Amino acid sequence: MKAYRLRRELNGIEEPPGKTWFWELQAGVIDADRCIRCGTCIAACPSNSIGIGEDTDLPELVKMCTGCSLCWDFCPRGGLRYEALWPPSTVGGETAEGGPSVEGAVVRSDASDSYWKITGGPPGDGLGAVMDSYAVRAGSRPGCAQDGGVVTALLIAALAGGEIDGALVTRPSEVPDEPWKGVAHLATTAEEITDAAGSYYNQTMALAELDLSGYDLPDKPRIAVVGTPCEIQGIRAMQSRRWPTGAHRIDSVVLTIALLCTKSFDYKGLMLQLLAEDRSIDIARVSKVDVIRGRMIVEYRDGEVAVDEAIKNFHGAALKGCDECADFLGRSADLSVGSVGSMDGWSSVLVRSERGRRALDNARGRLDLRELDDPEALVRLDTFDKRIALDSLHRAFDPDAPLFIEYAEHLAGYEGTDRAPVVPDR
Ligand SMILES: Cc1cc2nc3c(=O)[nH]c(=O)nc-3n(C[C@H](O)[C@H](O)[C@H](O)COP(=O)(O)OP(=O)(O)OC[C@H]3O[C@@H](n4cnc5c(N)ncnc54)[C@H](O)[C@@H]3O)c2cc1C
Ligand code: SF4
Ligand code: SF4
Repeated sequence: MKAYRLRRELNGIEEPPGKTWFWELQAGVIDADRCIRCGTCIAACPSNSIGIGEDTDLPELVKMCTGCSLCWDFCPRGGLRYEALWPPSTVGGETAEGGPSVEGAVVRSDASDSYWKITGGPPGDGLGAVMDSYAVRAGSRPGCAQDGGVVTALLIAALAGGEIDGALVTRPSEVPDEPWKGVAHLATTAEEITDAAGSYYNQTMALAELDLSGYDLPDKPRIAVVGTPCEIQGIRAMQSRRWPTGAHRIDSVVLTIALLCTKSFDYKGLMLQLLAEDRSIDIARVSKVDVIRGRMIVEYRDGEVAVDEAIKNFHGAALKGCDECADFLGRSADLSVGSVGSMDGWSSVLVRSERGRRALDNARGRLDLRELDDPEALVRLDTFDKRIALDSLHRAFDPDAPLFIEYAEHLAGYEGTDRAPVVPDR
């Protein structure tokens, strides 16, 4: 049965009779060091049986598993990637003008579309389904904004316009021995959204925070989610299928903003070990961490550049599961936002759905918009990202395994993709 081929071929785990249990997700993804800490399994579990390990920052069972299989089915490193018949996609039919059609995710269930699961898009389709693209800068930016401050401005405009009741963002941890650790938080005021500006290079198990019971919200809340592309994949997949939901309010997500992403890091490995311990960086003085143009840049509040080093020196702390990711461009989101493709101080914005367009239109009074400076830079990095994904599959699978051959063929459809080893630079 195809549904179990990944586990058998990659991890040697045999097909279970009937049900799929959490321990299989644990063996095939978490213990195999492939988890990218998105929190989808936690949000998907209808019996709320999965929590976050205190010391590990990884999913762990907190009560009885019923074997419903949903954690496996929706995991971007499990069933979603390899088996699902609901590839995350914003591509629907076409408008009369031949452009991509409107309103949220339209999910295709055509099995021939299976390359969506691993590549996020068909071979050679450039930026994917894009209705508009711009270089954008917010007129007024908080000092801690990462690039153009666009994500922050979009969220504040959506909140002010009554389009959303809150935004799932990432803010600094308040725990004293976790300096510069990003944690997921539902911001319900403009001040909270502003305080959460900037990039944190660790995954936060963001979707676990969609249990909104701790927040004061209307009965039917409307939430925007800012996340890495894998997190948005999880949301899209869950929104695309009827299933017995648990405490997590996937139904409340009305706007998704993906941050362009080629890799994320383990917090302790990057901030506490490689920066604080090995390079004597005073994390309490840090004002910005950026991974850009193949370099890790860390700045102190007084403007001193504390680190400016090739990113490959930090690969030891990168999440291994990110190597498999081929969705740099966040193709399942309403809006994709990143730095590549625009001048410093600006953000590149790809509008992928009518909801995304509406969010941008609502914020226009707060934004400067112009043409993307270098759209080809986005395509080049996407192609490069897919080469890394292919290379990691090459290492993980027996190259003669049928699944490897199948996926390699999908990925090899990208221009410039070959099986040569690659040296990631971002
Ligand atoms: C792990 C990571 C990797 C990235 N890699 C790339 C890349 O390879 N190429 C590229 O062009 N851009 C990348 N980006 C995106 C880039 O760093 C900026 O986030 C983006 O350009 C938006 O900038 P802004 O000034 O418009 O956003 P801001 O106004 O500064 O807002 C940023 C928003 O992102 C949220 N956020 C911060 N960290 C996280 C996180 N870890 N998970 C979820 N949400 C978060 C904040 O809470 C805030 O709401 C990456 C971001 C992250 C977090
Ligand atoms: S990758 Fe996401 S869904 Fe899969 S095990 Fe990790 S946190 Fe859960
Ligand atoms: S590289 Fe891919 S898997 Fe890793 S955090 Fe970014 S989007 Fe998620």
